[in-house]
Amino acid sequence: MKIIIATQNPHKVEEIKEIAKLFNIEGIEFLPIDKGLSFNPIENGKTFEENSIIKALEANKLIKEYTLADDSGLCVEALNGAPGIHSARYADTPQKRIDKLLTNLQNTKNRKAKFICAMTLINPNGEIIFKTIGECRGEIAYTQSGTHGFGYDPVFIVDKTSKTMADMTEDEKNKISHRSLALQKVFEYIKEQLDLPM
Ligand code: IMP
Repeated sequence: MKIIIATQNPHKVEEIKEIAKLFNIEGIEFLPIDKGLSFNPIENGKTFEENSIIKALEANKLIKEYTLADDSGLCVEALNGAPGIHSARYADTPQKRIDKLLTNLQNTKNRKAKFICAMTLINPNGEIIFKTIGECRGEIAYTQSGTHGFGYDPVFIVDKTSKTMADMTEDEKNKISHRSLALQKVFEYIKEQLDLPM
């Protein structure tokens, strides 16, 4: 089975492939949207789910295949869910985004936060056949730690561990991340409902 990932970012596709490997999912070929195609979804949804649907449907205009789209971000309780769907645009650079987050939480004891990932799977006709959300809960650290990962990983301490996501190896993160949890539900759906060879 072939699944197009609604992105032109090869790293996102690699991460999905790694997660599939970790859970022994065989028989699915994951492919990004060809760089030669003009894929410019306007992510003006109000939720992660809406934005993942927008990406999936935009991809279907270009490619008539099974397509999986995701949208993710960090929600901090004391900041009323910010940066949320604006996670990628919270400040100009990854470091500035972390700095802004730590500054905004400077005098705040409540550090509760969660990473959320919404995924939408559509069929070649552009019909939404499965939607799901993966959540990874944790706390925002007072200082950065770790060198792995990307984005807010260095300040996100995963619940029930004393590690930030950036302290974790790629495999460790891929077992517990919001993307992994959402993806595992997608794999279950494909196995049980679609009855496609895997
Ligand atoms: P996207 O929807 O996967 O492109 O994620 C949007 C933004 O959310 C990213 O640019 C990051 O700032 C943040 N984000 C999403 N997932 C992660 C993660 O696993 N670690 C750190 N930051 C993340």
